[in-house]
Amino acid sequence: MDHFLYRDGMLHAEDVPISEIAAQVGTPFYVYSTATLTRHFHLFDEALAGLPHLVCFAMKSLSNQAVLKTLAQAGAGMDVVSGGEYARAKAAGVPGDRIVFSGVGKTEPEMEQALTGGIRQFNVESEAEMALLSQVAMRLGKTAPITVRVNPDVDAKTHAKIATGKSENKFGIPIDRARDVYAHAAALPGIKVVGIDVHIGSQLTELAPFAAAYEKVAALTEALRADGHTIDRLDLGGGLGIPYERSNIAPPLPTEYGAMIKETLGHLGCEIEIEPGRLISGNAGLMVASVVYVKDGADRQFLILDAAMNDLIRPAMYDAWHDIVPVVEPAPGSEPATFDVVGPVCESGDTFAKGRTMAAVARGDLVAFRSAGAYGAVMSSEYNSRPLIPEVLVNGDQFAVIRPRPTFDEMIARDTIPSWLD
Ligand SMILES: *Cc1c(COP(=O)(O)O)cnc(C)c1O
Repeated sequence: MDHFLYRDGMLHAEDVPISEIAAQVGTPFYVYSTATLTRHFHLFDEALAGLPHLVCFAMKSLSNQAVLKTLAQAGAGMDVVSGGEYARAKAAGVPGDRIVFSGVGKTEPEMEQALTGGIRQFNVESEAEMALLSQVAMRLGKTAPITVRVNPDVDAKTHAKIATGKSENKFGIPIDRARDVYAHAAALPGIKVVGIDVHIGSQLTELAPFAAAYEKVAALTEALRADGHTIDRLDLGGGLGIPYERSNIAPPLPTEYGAMIKETLGHLGCEIEIEPGRLISGNAGLMVASVVYVKDGADRQFLILDAAMNDLIRPAMYDAWHDIVPVVEPAPGSEPATFDVVGPVCESGDTFAKGRTMAAVARGDLVAFRSAGAYGAVMSSEYNSRPLIPEVLVNGDQFAVIRPRPTFDEMIARDTIPSWLD
């Protein structure tokens, strides 16, 4: 569910007509709904009611400061994967004890930053990382709380580029080796084992792979406790999918996910942490673009937009589907059209959709890409020297630009000229 609906023939973000935002900021742009962001956070929070828990927003999916502040004020913790994300979380007012640090390649400066600024736990992904963390913590006179990310070797049945829980993936340590690795952790100074971490992938549309992973985690919890470790926390990762193609997929709801967690892990008395990203931010955002041209090809029509792969890379990178809808609601019974929807970038990969049957739009019309809040703006670039597109946050009948579009001069001024070229 989201808060982008047609009202009086015009697509709205909550109570704000999209056309009004477009008139003020120009296209293309991203727009996010406060009501959808907070609703999705509360769905997860309520799904785990009855268990001690913390919902940590995976901020790599959408990391604008205004969005982080919105979720932090609703009570979310944050899952960070870099020093930059850690700094963003702190800047948004998230206390260190609500931040978990994930990622396979944490560097020494990142460890130092989090140990100094405060951290709930590091989700450690290798013995080499554990050894370095021990050294850094000892040097700073701190103790690093850790979980070890285990790789349960389950097939998440998702796109290969976002599956992380098979033994062939770079993530975590093989679950069969977990007891040895925890024994090693217990022997290291400056490190305190607090739990287990698992994250098997993204955009999962079934509960079964999660349940298979969590059952392995339950068994491991008991084995590790028998070995004398304190396992008080289970970090279950993120990954619940969203219905990008509304007509086609119905992923499980957070309530069903929460019920499955209680069933597989509820008896262990652990605090549960989850790290949803996409399900909180995905349907909370649209990317809005203008039609620059409709071009007749040899055997098809191209819809050429002013947005491109540098603004939203998911179709090019993951073959992802985004529903593309007109901002002005089509009249009932109007004939649809079929387009290849493309951007202006000089790459054939700059294609948002092929042979897409959608409303018949024309030059100058506005279109909106649905479910673009997650892995949209955060993955954008200035390829082809196209300045990063602005982000807008709506709250009821108010809206604000939360990241302005840089001017060409601002974009150019980030480069510096070495003295020998002056
Ligand atoms: C990407 C990621 C998430 C979030 O995944 P979503 O599919 O956006 O929910 C959570 N945890 C870790 C460790 C991740 O890498």
